[in-house]
Amino acid sequence: MEFNSNKRNFNKVTRQFDVLDSIRSEALFASMSSKNNDSMDGGRGRPLYDINGLGGDLGTNDDNINNDVSEIGRLEELKQQEADLARQLAAIRMEKLSALRSKPLTIGVIGFGRFGQFIAKTLGRHGKIVVTSRSDYTEIANGMGAEYVPLSEPETFLDKNLDVIILATSIVSFESTVKSLTPHLREHVAKRSKGPLLVDVLSVKEHARDILLNYLPEECDILCTHPMFGPDSGKNGWKNLNFVFEKTRVDKVVFDPNSCVDFERSNDRAFNEAYSYTESMDRIERFLSIWEEEGCRMVPLSCKSHDEYAANSQFITHLMGRILGAQGLQKTPIDTKGFESVLKLIDSTTADSFDLFYGLYKFNKKNSLSIIHQLQDAMDDVVDNLKILEKKDLEQQKVHVNVESDEKQRGARID
Ligand code: NAP
Repeated sequence: MEFNSNKRNFNKVTRQFDVLDSIRSEALFASMSSKNNDSMDGGRGRPLYDINGLGGDLGTNDDNINNDVSEIGRLEELKQQEADLARQLAAIRMEKLSALRSKPLTIGVIGFGRFGQFIAKTLGRHGKIVVTSRSDYTEIANGMGAEYVPLSEPETFLDKNLDVIILATSIVSFESTVKSLTPHLREHVAKRSKGPLLVDVLSVKEHARDILLNYLPEECDILCTHPMFGPDSGKNGWKNLNFVFEKTRVDKVVFDPNSCVDFERSNDRAFNEAYSYTESMDRIERFLSIWEEEGCRMVPLSCKSHDEYAANSQFITHLMGRILGAQGLQKTPIDTKGFESVLKLIDSTTADSFDLFYGLYKFNKKNSLSIIHQLQDAMDDVVDNLKILEKKDLEQQKVHVNVESDEKQRGARID
């Protein structure tokens, strides 16, 4: 498909840039180290590449000078190649954008709460948005040019010709939401050759993956994602913010992180050339490209690895924010920068629902529980260290007092 081949060209040129970058660094490094070696000059302490001849012995170093000149020429050449590639890349990017815009996606969002609204606002710049939720969000949806359908009308929602459906409900209600959508999806795909692409944005990934694989009809492709940002951290745009994704099921083939099925590099030609596969990949790439275009740092990562990393980063952040928030800390007139960061952490973590925090704990229990235990141990260690120091201090004070009273007694006897 046009869009996929465009994207492949884009990646090819980007890889060429990487190669060029490493050649340039090597050339630079070689030129610098040759200069450094030359400057050793058998201990004469005079840089031989000093062609201005400030005391340099030019006559004996022609070879070095010639090397330097050819290295400088090489850099010029590489810079020229770099400029050519930049032109190619810009042209491919423009083509990619026009391919993307030629067929905008219709995106459905299930769960139009804090996060659903946040992403719909930006995604609406790239396609048509239809939302559904328990609460009536007609006004907010219309305000951002989207259409609202009540959650109690799943057929109406599915009949909107959705290319992609994003599941943005709370983690704790995810299973029940998917379970109740499934029979309607089955009916829907029975009338078509292909179902919509289902995307989740849950902050825990293995749970989402299991549920989606368990319930969804196999005609639906699955993309498990986690935008590692939210309405606070992404309020000024998504540039350089991490977007984690796993292409979980593409054209009925399930990604297995253990056997490392790589959809991009699969050697199975029959699989790669199937139209249905290409169609699936095209839709996934179109969807991912929206996030890419918004500046996200795209991170392909298995759901399993995501959950291990996230417990160590995201869960501990929320846990600390909640613990500090529970202490009722308040702004003072003499706040340090450090304390301002603490208050910011409390604000940003408690702005998210408690459901979200509970979901992070409950549905990544193995990792989150081990983080809680590590934190408790670390807290005990730090407090123990304080107590040990205090005990040493007291003992030293006692020794000091004893020495003083011994001296006093000795002094009294002498008197
Ligand atoms: P949340 O409290 O986790 O979820 C709120 C959403 O869930 C609302 O749309 C709500 O619908 C829906 N919901 C709650 N209970 C439901 C139920 N029993 N049945 C159907 N829908 C139900 O808050 P959130 O911040 O909006 O997060 C939504 C999802 O995005 C979560 O899975 C979260 O992990 C993920 N996420 C959030 C962030 C973030 O920064 N907040 C970042 C990345 C990913 P109604 O409003 O209609 O009641």
